[in-house]
Amino acid sequence: MPTDVLESLVSLCKRRGFIFQSSEIYGGVGSVWDYGPLGIELKRNLQDRWWKSMVRARDDIEGLDSGILMHPRVWEASGHVGGFVDPLVDCKNCKRRFRADEPTIKGTPGEPDAQCPSCGMKGTLSAPRQFNMMFKTFMGPVEDTAAVVYLRPETAQGTYVNFLNVQQSMRKKVPFGIAQIGKAFRNEITPGNFIFRTREFEQMEMQFFVEPGTDMKWFEYWRDERMRWHRGLGLREDRLRFYDQRKDELAHYARAACDIQFDFGGSLGFAEIEGVHNRGDFDLGRHQEFSGKKLEYFDQPNNRRYIPYVVETAVGPNRTLLALLVSAYREEIVEGEAEGRTVLGFHPALAPVKAGVFPLVKKDGMPEMAEKIATDLRKQFPVFYDESGAIGRRYRRQDEIGTPYCLTVDGQSITDGTVTIRDRDTLAQERVAAERVGEVIVSRIAS
Ligand code: ATP
Repeated sequence: MPTDVLESLVSLCKRRGFIFQSSEIYGGVGSVWDYGPLGIELKRNLQDRWWKSMVRARDDIEGLDSGILMHPRVWEASGHVGGFVDPLVDCKNCKRRFRADEPTIKGTPGEPDAQCPSCGMKGTLSAPRQFNMMFKTFMGPVEDTAAVVYLRPETAQGTYVNFLNVQQSMRKKVPFGIAQIGKAFRNEITPGNFIFRTREFEQMEMQFFVEPGTDMKWFEYWRDERMRWHRGLGLREDRLRFYDQRKDELAHYARAACDIQFDFGGSLGFAEIEGVHNRGDFDLGRHQEFSGKKLEYFDQPNNRRYIPYVVETAVGPNRTLLALLVSAYREEIVEGEAEGRTVLGFHPALAPVKAGVFPLVKKDGMPEMAEKIATDLRKQFPVFYDESGAIGRRYRRQDEIGTPYCLTVDGQSITDGTVTIRDRDTLAQERVAAERVGEVIVSRIAS
């Protein structure tokens, strides 16, 4: 992302109530961000859209909300205790820490030629050591090793341990999936790029349980289906691509993996927003082994038992939200106007506020009529009522937060009961009967 666009977005997000730095009055805390009134609407719209398409609109996927804290053995079985590590080097001079594969490190860490990318000293970087990215805490009043639990680094394990609970209670037949949205925590060594990589984030993950042998077919299916979903968000086509992992890049348990990447521009370029993974029987197999409980599926028609294979789709709403912001942000010159405008051209269904409602002037019954329209519309979708400042200014304020429609009550409204609807992108205005604006906007948001 060009630094200026990222910087513009960070400042716009703060100024307009999308995203604030955590604990800012104390100087902030590393890479944690708080979602303000507009940010939470945008994130919720994104999550609802995922939930609707993955759970509600399908009869082969069920929802789940498992706990963040789990039995510590879960993370031994999953391989996270032993293997969820990144090689870390630290500088003995400035005390900064880096991932060993940090491209700005010159020389070989641990050797005298290595140069710290932060303070520039030579020979002060330690040899790489393995750093586990799980956050540890204690359960109960005793802080000893027996009480150690972890904040989950992914939601998937909560799904695997509930595989039979969901399958049996909902009487599901393979193939079927379990989806959940929830927080995950990773003690990333080098977080950054605004909300791209943080230590606390959310995931929207779906585990699809299939009969062994059909897994590659389902992997291909989900790969395409998920790309279709991202395109449907209005993310620009030319900024989306697949990255199929080569055999030597695959995690040891994966049979195939594909990233859906978005081009954030600048130094970040194309980067993963979602991973689609064929995980074989690794997860259920390991939990069966570590828990001693059978996690097999009984295929009644064929009278056989097997451990299903898993095809996973894993996407982060925070990272996708950043992609939406980058994709939607534009600065424009408006013909015939002295001032340009900044626009967040969100898909109307995702925009945090759907309509701005304004009286043209603060007299002649216009504020009363506009307030009544705003109150009525609020029952259907979020509306922003604004009567302060010049009308052009009010339009600009809504453009900047991505509001797709602005309704203005003017002199004619008082006599004939119509209002103007202004379209954020085309700037076209049309007159519509005040009692019809709700249905007009709802139909446009849905399309
Ligand atoms: P990366 O390689 O970028 O660290 P990953 O391959 O470890 O990501 P997964 O474990 O597949 O990521 O997680 C699925 C999704 O969760 C990612 O595609 C991303 O959208 C999101 N995600 C993962 N780590 C973070 C993070 N630290 N901050 C924000 N989102 C994240």
